[in-house]
Amino acid sequence: MKISCDFCYHRCTLEEGQSGLCSVRMVRQGELVTQAYGQLVALAVDPVEKKPLYHFLPGSKTLSLAMYGCNLHCNFCQNYTISQPSFMQNPAAEPVDGPALVSLAMERKCPSISFTYSEPLVWQDYMLEVASLAKAKGLATIMVTNGTFSEEALNRIFPLIDAYNIDLKGDEQFYRRVCKGSAKPVLDAIEYLVHRKAHVEVTTMVMESEHDTAHILTLANQLAVRGVQVWHLSRYFPRYLATEKATSETYMKQLLDAVSSSPIEYVYAGNSEQKQATCCPYCNSLLISDRRYVPVHPEKAFVGGRCSRCNRQIYGRWTS
Ligand code: SF4
Repeated sequence: MKISCDFCYHRCTLEEGQSGLCSVRMVRQGELVTQAYGQLVALAVDPVEKKPLYHFLPGSKTLSLAMYGCNLHCNFCQNYTISQPSFMQNPAAEPVDGPALVSLAMERKCPSISFTYSEPLVWQDYMLEVASLAKAKGLATIMVTNGTFSEEALNRIFPLIDAYNIDLKGDEQFYRRVCKGSAKPVLDAIEYLVHRKAHVEVTTMVMESEHDTAHILTLANQLAVRGVQVWHLSRYFPRYLATEKATSETYMKQLLDAVSSSPIEYVYAGNSEQKQATCCPYCNSLLISDRRYVPVHPEKAFVGGRCSRCNRQIYGRWTS
């Protein structure tokens, strides 16, 4: 008998002993299971800015964790040793249960837990188990994802995750050629989450050889019509199978200038010397000067999530 997995848009239909495209979900003794459930391959305390989230509890730390796996196969993957099937081994670690992670987050004074580094969609059963316990203890929950949800996954995950950083990697052609994926489920997920008022920030890694100005402006438009307010343009460095040279600072500046007239109010540069400050989009007061140096401190002009000069509300969650 075949069983379908609804954890992501691929919807793999699997027979006994088969694994899905992620190599994580498999049918074992007639049941669809997540292999190596709870066996973490990464666990660290990070600044929340590293996710990147710039408008969600700025200056705070987040307990960040991952299991193996991803459902896309991007040739530039920055975390390929824990995402791609050919690098997966049996993690030696014992499974870590939810209560232990919640206690650790509280001990380490982290107001949030982040599911990150690899692709949490393919281990979402474990993510949801931990997230539910974390929320019961008053912690916030963060998912850093490629955004290729199925509709069922969105419905399951939305109530338990507070903030999302979602990759929008390029246009449809780019996804098919470079990632063996599709842009459509990502755009659908962004629309679903923004519409329901989840906290959403989007990241696009910019490859100079792939993302010309027209391409980036198309993405800006797709995000703006869906109501996205925070967009990170992250500078590419060669990694995994991608050998193109690193994106230059000059090119980053050129793209930031090009998108400055888009309706997206907060656009930042990542892995770069370019813009990382937050200014009020209404009166241009400086609200947060820079995220590259921790600890991050909002300026005096920024009080309780409002610009104190013009009193406008600034998008985000500013206190836990
Ligand atoms: S998580 Fe996605 S890729 Fe993995 S088995 Fe399920 S549907 Fe397939």
